[in-house]
Amino acid sequence: MELLEKRILQDGNILGKDILKVDQFLTHQVDYKLMKAIGAVFADHYAQAGITKVVTIEASGIAPALYAAEALNVPMIFAKKHKNITMTEGILTAEVYSFTKQVTSTVSISSKFLSKEDKVLIIDDFLANGQAAKGLIDIIGQAGASVVGVGIVIEKSFQPGRSLIEESGIPVTSLARIASFENGQLNFMEADA
Ligand code: 5GP
Repeated sequence: MELLEKRILQDGNILGKDILKVDQFLTHQVDYKLMKAIGAVFADHYAQAGITKVVTIEASGIAPALYAAEALNVPMIFAKKHKNITMTEGILTAEVYSFTKQVTSTVSISSKFLSKEDKVLIIDDFLANGQAAKGLIDIIGQAGASVVGVGIVIEKSFQPGRSLIEESGIPVTSLARIASFENGQLNFMEADA
């Protein structure tokens, strides 16, 4: 997605050898126009797939996921990272190791929001080692629902997340694919949409 690549080049900052900071438009301050355009690209790509739910993980997946859900005209569910006393009914959980926070947390979704009939599109802001997506795939599987695809805003293709997901037979659709960070220079490879 050209608009997204341009924005990453304009506002993204490389931290260390493998982190990209995009808090100007995605992970802290959110550019809703860009998020809406991103949502429309995901929705176009999966328009014929019969998606019934969009699932993401809090917090930074919520903005692109919500616009994808709006464009597909289906509900958006975000997995919660912290236990909440109001979640009293059946809860589906998975352990997820956070790449940026370097801690493992239990993420959860109430079982009432997913059923065997659901065809789910997972959306997330970044794909690194694939642990967040793997946790969501696990939870959706516990509900007996199927995962139709994983939509990623920014994939760091030099990390193994994509192969981990594709090995389970699920297609990955990334709107920007970063091949490398070399000498502070960001190099893209061809994106999926
Ligand atoms: P994974 O689970 O694929 O290893 O990492 C994906 C999750 O870690 C995303 O949900 C995102 O929150 C965070 N993440 C991974 N890499 C980056 C990065 O380079 N920058 C930012 N801001 N978040 C990242």
